Amino acid sequence: MPNFVGNLTQKYSYRQYFYHQIVGGLFGIALLLELPGLPVQAQSDLSPGFPKDRPEALSESSSKNSPKASPEDYPQLCQNPDQNSSQSSSQSSDQPDLTALVHPDTGERASHWLLSTSNWIANPEIAAAQFIQELGTQIVIQANISPWPTIHQQARGARVPVIMYHDILPDKEVFFDVTVEEFKQQLESIRQAGATPISLDELMTHLETGKSLPPKPILLTFDDGYAGHYKIVYPLLQDYNYPAVFSIFTDKVEGKIVGRSRLTWAQLREMAADPLVTIAAHSITHPPDLTDLPDVQLEQEILQSKKILEEKLGIPIRYFTYPEGKYDERVTAWVKAAGYRGALTMDDSENRFSNQSKSLLAIDRFGQSGLSQALEQAWGGLQLSAWQAAFDFDAPVVKSEITLEKFP
Ligand SMILES: [Zn+2]
Repeated sequence: MPNFVGNLTQKYSYRQYFYHQIVGGLFGIALLLELPGLPVQAQSDLSPGFPKDRPEALSESSSKNSPKASPEDYPQLCQNPDQNSSQSSSQSSDQPDLTALVHPDTGERASHWLLSTSNWIANPEIAAAQFIQELGTQIVIQANISPWPTIHQQARGARVPVIMYHDILPDKEVFFDVTVEEFKQQLESIRQAGATPISLDELMTHLETGKSLPPKPILLTFDDGYAGHYKIVYPLLQDYNYPAVFSIFTDKVEGKIVGRSRLTWAQLREMAADPLVTIAAHSITHPPDLTDLPDVQLEQEILQSKKILEEKLGIPIRYFTYPEGKYDERVTAWVKAAGYRGALTMDDSENRFSNQSKSLLAIDRFGQSGLSQALEQAWGGLQLSAWQAAFDFDAPVVKSEITLEKFP
């Protein structure tokens, strides 16, 4: 009986035959899995089941006074806003985009090494080892992606505090006020602790994917839109180069809420244009408890507030902050329906790290008085090994031509 393998060894070694079979099989699997598109796929998969096409206007399809308003009226809006990012739109070809993979050591794009013909022919063993390692990484990541709005298991091990401030002003008026001097000291303590203030987008990516953050990450947030946020906080953030979130309820900016200072639309537009600043919706009227409101009002406070901010500021509003931290399932259903990526809450009785939050739709915060505890305990999570770190979620996807005929 003819020995198939034996015959082959006359042409080239058994080892080469083995590697070629393995590599060929793995490459086939990779194509079947559309593996090279994983970074894009991974983002999309955070909200499975949600349609990809988003209507232009959130509320055109609904009447402001519709008595039947409910989140279910907006199933087409339930999606992760990231799906609209340039990452996903840049893939227009049926060809797999291998540029999404990055070589762990050289940082080269996949098109330069994965299909490097000289490598595959001259050093099939090395090429196969690299390929298998990369394939393994992708499979592990795909297997571990948590469906939106679930927090990734790997992020559960980290401790990222989100600090909540209200007014910053020269003299304290109520207990949650912080004076300018106190605030300056707090910024200095953040710097001296070696902490790294991050943006809400960075926190979300961490919570969604488990990707580690700097050793001592912290997120600063400012609620309610006081004048001091522009006059005092914003210039200091620029000095320190610290990102921050400002949660705005629109009736205050409109001057419909009497008492205390307020930001103007012009000030907000200036801040919103700064990459350091994230503007979050914080309802229209700042009701004390959203869970008490009927659906028709929740539609206004959650969905319309987003639309007003987007129209006034000319930027997408992707986060919501619950007034007084109050929410329930019906409220979060509206937050989903409005197309927010995530939402911030708070609990007066307990400071919790964002990693312990119920979900991305209820991210916990620390009161500003908990800053020193936050700085002591903040931790960005396990730093990934070289091959994991090489997988760059933030890398822009660039289309490139690949000649598959050259593949052995
Ligand atoms: Zn508030």
